[in-house]
Amino acid sequence: TQAHIAAVEGARELNAFTVETPELALAAAETADRALADGAAKPLSGIPLGIKDLFCTEGVESTAGSNILRGFTPQYESTVSANLLADGAGMLGKLNMDEFAMGSSNETSAWGNVINPWRGAKGETLVPGGSSGGSSAAVAARIVAAATGTDTGGSIRQPAAFTGITGFKPTYGRCSRWGTVAFASSLDQAGPMARDVRDCAIMLRSMAGFDPKDSTSLDLPLPDFEAALTGDIKGRRIGIPKEYTIDGIPAEIEALWSKGADMLRDAGAEIVEISLPHTKYALPTYYIIAPAEASSNLARYDGVRYGLRETPDGGNLIDMYEATRSAGFGDEVKRRIMIGTYVLSAGYYDAYYLQAQKVRTLIKQDFDRAFEQCDVILTPTAPSAAFAAGSKSDDPIAMYLNDVFCVPASLAGLPAMSVPAGADKDGLPLGLHLIGNALEEEGLFNAGYALE
Ligand code: GLN
Repeated sequence: TQAHIAAVEGARELNAFTVETPELALAAAETADRALADGAAKPLSGIPLGIKDLFCTEGVESTAGSNILRGFTPQYESTVSANLLADGAGMLGKLNMDEFAMGSSNETSAWGNVINPWRGAKGETLVPGGSSGGSSAAVAARIVAAATGTDTGGSIRQPAAFTGITGFKPTYGRCSRWGTVAFASSLDQAGPMARDVRDCAIMLRSMAGFDPKDSTSLDLPLPDFEAALTGDIKGRRIGIPKEYTIDGIPAEIEALWSKGADMLRDAGAEIVEISLPHTKYALPTYYIIAPAEASSNLARYDGVRYGLRETPDGGNLIDMYEATRSAGFGDEVKRRIMIGTYVLSAGYYDAYYLQAQKVRTLIKQDFDRAFEQCDVILTPTAPSAAFAAGSKSDDPIAMYLNDVFCVPASLAGLPAMSVPAGADKDGLPLGLHLIGNALEEEGLFNAGYALE
């Protein structure tokens, strides 16, 4: 723990943390020492973690990367972080992130950009991916043993790929959303980001589990994910979706994808071509549903209940709302609120939101049919390696395209993971993406383990 605290202090230029809490990590280490001496160690006794700032942490400022929550100190602990602490983990601090988890590069945080510990070929600064960019940077730089992330449309998997670490998004409902600041509630799912597949399996076992405080939490037994890591994938069928061969995908990403399929075949798996015909509608569908839900969830930041309040001279209540929300939210968040409000408004609801919900069902049905033919689906995680800071910030569509491979599994609520797999021509890490059927995390973890 002391070495990790020193590492946090030595890597402040990454801007990975919003708050550092070395005293909490040390207290957990002392408790762990006593537990070890008594032969009563817990699964994570004394393991120093970073917690994404989307999770509310009791007595520690929790801002979701937003100015509107600056100064908000929850009186309660999110279920996921409480589960980790109850299993003995310590918290080194809160990890920086895109504002309200909206972004793919960690350039929308009110706390400033996070820097990828990897550098470009000419030494340029790269983004760590997003929205869990503080988590990915901190794990990649080895300043935390592991971290929590959240994934609404790729925010665990894409940053994991950009930094050469492993990230796992479980089936929707495995991890409680209670106490996690809401972005798009039908998509938001917590998951681990760690150095390898085994660490992710251990972390998820602690994070997940039924929680009566979340109405979408799954009341099912929790498998021992680590025990599933046998590396034996003989006879498993790996699906390669032909629709993921999108225009403009760089040759080196295609080559990585084939290499991944070869590795799994060599390990005894059978490779089958599958079809997910509605794939091309996934991104537009996501960018209707996610902003719609966000516009509703973010209505609570009214200057009364949490954080920031701006009171213009002589203004009334409406002026206070307007001033608070104008000052408190960043541009990307405002863009999502406007899009979301538009697609939910009378006259447009049927054309956009309702239509998107129908397409979401078609996408889920594509996966249902595909999983009759295969056990796990293999794709690239992202269409490129980490890009230079600033290179996409003025082009929201280019930014949104980062999640083209991740979003379909999110819409279908399926478990999916990114595993580090090789490098691009400049030596930057690339990730391979595996998607499993609902609740089949064990087989998914094991396929990832075979790829690693
Ligand atoms: N990049 C996507 C977005 O901006 C996904 C974010 C996420 O998964 N939280 O919405």
